[in-house]
Amino acid sequence: PRNPRALPSPPTTEPPTPEYSRRPLPDPSPTSAAMKLSVFSAKPYDQEYLSRVQQRDHASFSVTYHDFALSEKTASLAAGSDAVCVFVNDVVSAPVLASLSQLGVRAVLLRCAGFNNVDLAAAERHGLFVANVPSYSPEAVAEFAVALLQTLNRRTHRAYNRVREGNFSLDGLLGRTLHGKTVGIVGVGRIGLALARILRGFGCRLVAYDPFPLPEFTEHGEYVALDALLAQSDFVSLHCPLMDATKHVINAATLAQMRRGAVLVNTSRGGLIDTKALIAALKTGHLGGVALDVYEGEGGLFYQDHSGDIIQDDDLMRLMTFPNVLMCGHQAFFTEEALTEIAECTLRNLEDFAEKRHCSNSLVSSGKPMVRRDSAPVRI
Ligand code: NAD
Repeated sequence: PRNPRALPSPPTTEPPTPEYSRRPLPDPSPTSAAMKLSVFSAKPYDQEYLSRVQQRDHASFSVTYHDFALSEKTASLAAGSDAVCVFVNDVVSAPVLASLSQLGVRAVLLRCAGFNNVDLAAAERHGLFVANVPSYSPEAVAEFAVALLQTLNRRTHRAYNRVREGNFSLDGLLGRTLHGKTVGIVGVGRIGLALARILRGFGCRLVAYDPFPLPEFTEHGEYVALDALLAQSDFVSLHCPLMDATKHVINAATLAQMRRGAVLVNTSRGGLIDTKALIAALKTGHLGGVALDVYEGEGGLFYQDHSGDIIQDDDLMRLMTFPNVLMCGHQAFFTEEALTEIAECTLRNLEDFAEKRHCSNSLVSSGKPMVRRDSAPVRI
């Protein structure tokens, strides 16, 4: 989307230059104080999208990119910065926040929606500003959840490998027609609602569980209790945030409540699923399949090339041996549109902080954590 604050395009033909127009051009963001930002876990695409928006809208900011994650070991690299920018697997724990605060860092900018990796109470104690990007193309994640669901359901991941070897047999590729099936959505926020809109187009019946129901969802389906959702659904897709109330929401007991042969999709956070219980349910055949974009042990593994390493995580390696497990490396967000929105919102959050403006994406404000729908206690 066009940034409303972007400068108008320059005229294509050179107008005569009158004397008064030789005054220096105004600063592209005249209210913006100079800010030094250290970006951690910066991949080439992060750098590309962030620097494009920084040069266009925030020329007074100076940005340093580190291709490694923020952790207790690397926090010292933020010395001299006003703010750090982090992603899903950076460690933003109490000790890291204490180090950052000692170094004079005053703001933590998440370039993602989930903030389960940030100790917000510690940030508050240190008086640090913390802001996230609550919404960036929720459709990007919802569309990816559907892509995973249908890949697993119709076995296109297996067909892809098979036909490349000249094997056109259909044995083992039988799927189920999505039309008329019941899909359970756990957590109907921005992404869950986008998924509901898409699945309605497939002709699915939708049920959802969310302790904070949204009236918009009732146009697409009905809210039910979690055990009813698990008992009714042919497919279950997780879209709630990871927090104390949702950690291992999918465990041995809740897996047992699912219909035999049901398929689970997780594009939210790995910690929502107890991996050992998941493996057990796959081994007995109770679970029909699982598609994971996220994994509870992904920190330190995802976003890096480990193809030449001996991966030590036996649960992850066991998961990847099942023919009915589809795994991706936390890429549901990864579209051009989402990267643009993430860069714009992250740097706007920093500008709000620099200018002491109200920031609607602040997670810790005036020394008090703000109440958010996804951090409030569970009511059902
Ligand atoms: P959101 O805040 O708009 O929606 C979250 C919903 O979960 C809310 O409606 C909330 O009421 C609900 N919820 C809270 N507690 C719950 C509980 N105990 N049980 C069920 N629902 C509960 O968030 P969103 O933008 O839709 O994103 C959802 C999650 O998706 C994020 O927290 C993030 O972890 C994940 N995510 C993943 C990717 C990716 O690339 N894989 C990208 C973006 C977001």
